[in-house]
Amino acid sequence: MLNCASHPNEGLELKHGTHIPRKRFGQHFLTDTFVIEAIVQAISPKAGDAMVEIGPGLAALTQPLVERLGALTVIELDRDLAQRLRSHGQLKVIESDVLKVDFRQIAQAQGATKLRVVGNLPYNISTPILFHLLDQVEVVEDQHFMLQKEVIDRMVARPCTAAYGRLSVMLQWRYAMENVLFVPPESFTPPPRVDSAVVRMVPRSDAAPLDVNVLSELVQVAFSQRRKILRHTLGSWLQAKNFNGDFDVQRRAEEVPVDEYLALALSVPSMS
Ligand code: SAH
Repeated sequence: MLNCASHPNEGLELKHGTHIPRKRFGQHFLTDTFVIEAIVQAISPKAGDAMVEIGPGLAALTQPLVERLGALTVIELDRDLAQRLRSHGQLKVIESDVLKVDFRQIAQAQGATKLRVVGNLPYNISTPILFHLLDQVEVVEDQHFMLQKEVIDRMVARPCTAAYGRLSVMLQWRYAMENVLFVPPESFTPPPRVDSAVVRMVPRSDAAPLDVNVLSELVQVAFSQRRKILRHTLGSWLQAKNFNGDFDVQRRAEEVPVDEYLALALSVPSMS
């Protein structure tokens, strides 16, 4: 067992007893000090890093992070939790829905070119959050997120597996990703009904310079009927786009590697 010198909530007086978890905000608070320490180690915060935490909740991760960073920006939708967090002198609290937050503005306000983004995300909106950040990837240094394990499995999935799909192609285009930690339901209060895991996402510097809308539509069409031969779905779509390049449509969507989807997205005419 790890010997944690300081209690993660020390100095904040944020006790579970005084906050009733709100289901609609996906509130499952981390309570396992071993897991908290392992996540902080995976993030490896350094003094002065420009970091943003999504959904700090009762500050289980927030406190050990800010002790190492010196300062931290947090985005919390729950008005009561945001109110409590404001009493912490080292935190800048943005009380808002993360899906409405402009990360470019946060970077600018901090005088940073790139942000490190972390969080134990509300699972009900985790995919929209991932796509919201994909739109602003140019201001992101790296991301560490606690998510439903099943979602991370889809993010990092390889071709020819059941988990391989739209999320795998869209995110593998833009990020190098790895699953860094498995987290069981009992690590949270209240425990979620699903297994969780922590993913590390680092924006790729060599990402193909393609139109995200083209890629998005292309993989949506391809995976709309994942069991069917692509000729019936993507084939017709490509024809409508007057595509006359080389692409084998006698396959299923899940048999096509990410690189081939990217090459295809680069070679069909842009939609804008
Ligand atoms: N990080 C904490 C809490 C995780 S639970 C911990 O690990 O213990 C998810 C947190 O996200 C809650 O604090 C919840 O209030 C917050 N949240 C839910 N929806 C949100 C949204 N749309 N924008 C910002 N925060 C949100």
